[in-house]
Amino acid sequence: MSSNGDGTGAVEPLACPTCARKYPLTERFCADCEMPLVYVGRGEEEPITAAHERARKVKPQYLGGELVKVAMGSNLAEAELIQGLLLEEGIPSVQRRTRGFDVPDFLAAGPRDILVPVAAYEISRELLTDTAEHSLEPAAAGERPLRLLVGLLIALAIAAVLVWAISQLAT
Ligand SMILES: [Zn+2]
Repeated sequence: MSSNGDGTGAVEPLACPTCARKYPLTERFCADCEMPLVYVGRGEEEPITAAHERARKVKPQYLGGELVKVAMGSNLAEAELIQGLLLEEGIPSVQRRTRGFDVPDFLAAGPRDILVPVAAYEISRELLTDTAEHSLEPAAAGERPLRLLVGLLIALAIAAVLVWAISQLAT
């Protein structure tokens, strides 16, 4: 029932995104940096869960160094979107609540800083700048139909009031 692998007894597929120290699966945070550990795997094993599969995408060359702020999400969903974009390129990231906003931790609202290891800073900046430029276009285009719809609803409301007023006069 033993695996036919290389027989390395030490199973340490987790790594700290800050100092790149390796940890076994039983650990969740780096003892030195208190950072959440990311899964880097040992190379060839199959991903066990979706989270492991995501973490497997992390490229080792982007691990290590101090964490630096590379972007900001205006809420949890946006922060996770940015983290997803980074991970697609193999870049591990950590999100932290932006200082100065007094929102309880369990709320999804409130801005977050996105931090990446300094080794991945340059590529992350480039990646996020490109993405921001491209995503602006569909947003601007989507604004016009919405405005038309709002105008139409207001017109309908006015028409309804007029019909009601006329019916009141007729009686
Ligand atoms: Zn560490």
